[in-house]
Amino acid sequence: MPDPRFGFRVTYTEGRARAGIMSTAHGSVETPAFMPVGTQGAVKGLTHRDLEGLGAEILLSNTYHLYLRPGDDLIARHGGLHRFIGWTRPILTDSGGYQVFSLAARRTIDEQGARFQSHLDGSAHLLTPEKATDIQARLGSDVAMVLDECLAHPADVRTARVSMSRTLRWAERARTRLLELRAGPVAGVAVTNAGQAQFGIVQGGVFPELREESAAGTVAIGFEAYAIGGLSVGEPTDVMYDIVDRTTPCLPDDRPRYLMGAGTPQDLVEAVARGVDLFDCVLPTRNARNGQLFTSEGRLNIKNARHAEDESPPDPDCACYTCRTFSRAYLRHLFLAGEMNAATLNTLHNLHFYLDTLRRIKDAIRLGRFETFRLAFHQRLSRLESERI
Ligand SMILES: [Zn+2]
Repeated sequence: MPDPRFGFRVTYTEGRARAGIMSTAHGSVETPAFMPVGTQGAVKGLTHRDLEGLGAEILLSNTYHLYLRPGDDLIARHGGLHRFIGWTRPILTDSGGYQVFSLAARRTIDEQGARFQSHLDGSAHLLTPEKATDIQARLGSDVAMVLDECLAHPADVRTARVSMSRTLRWAERARTRLLELRAGPVAGVAVTNAGQAQFGIVQGGVFPELREESAAGTVAIGFEAYAIGGLSVGEPTDVMYDIVDRTTPCLPDDRPRYLMGAGTPQDLVEAVARGVDLFDCVLPTRNARNGQLFTSEGRLNIKNARHAEDESPPDPDCACYTCRTFSRAYLRHLFLAGEMNAATLNTLHNLHFYLDTLRRIKDAIRLGRFETFRLAFHQRLSRLESERI
């Protein structure tokens, strides 16, 4: 049974692109939406006030990191993640699976779950579908994700099938556990957000038939909404678009669809065109800290010597605080000098660019001009990037 505090309403469509409103226990989110990544309960370099100023309506946090430090029990004692970190808007937490699978040599997977060693102190842990559900119940995010097996790319069809089937069995166990937690108090699990929704995750590698099977099985279990996982892991872009294209029609129209971990600004536009509503990605924040800015004219490396005397803003079309106030020359100087403000100002710009791109997409869908927007967006980037070469 879906939680009544979670809802989704499609307000406008153009082709397969949708604009809508997702409601959660901590307020609503206009979709399509981008979730800035606040791994440890903070977006690196920014305050929550900055995020609110940028118009971020929902934040993503990482279960793996918060479970290891400061611990989900501690956060529950502080009333849950919202109260602990001082963020009043919606929060989505991942299941911890992706981080555990990224540990490679430090983890093993079996039917029960994922055994891993902490990257902090080497301590041994077992993450099961039930435990990932319990941890997120203590954190009290508005959207919890099921534990899934994240397959490395490339994988052959046999390996992908075994992994996809296990993810389905894990999804069933995670849902059973969430329903137990909803039904009444469970000893040892302090639920800090009774309105928490849970999303299932479609896996199946780059094989359309496995994706279709995974989608059907996950939808049959019944979640508040559905995510597409295991993409943007090194497969060619056209393969990713094709898998998204084949998967979204297998998911219910009346639930949001979340493409996990993607991607570039172009990826967002293409995924929206294929019916995706929610995104998260470390690219805008991580690349900002490395001096790379996403702009309406393509990517710009602020450390490049050709910006040394450049008085122009990073992006002439951008209305963010960084672009309204500072020159490329100054931002380059801050970066080379190792000033903390370099990360802050670059991150402000990149997140503004991502959030603004989605605002433009939403407006275009509302006005029935999304296809025109999509074409112009790609044409501008490809023209400018080819000119730069
Ligand atoms: Zn800007």
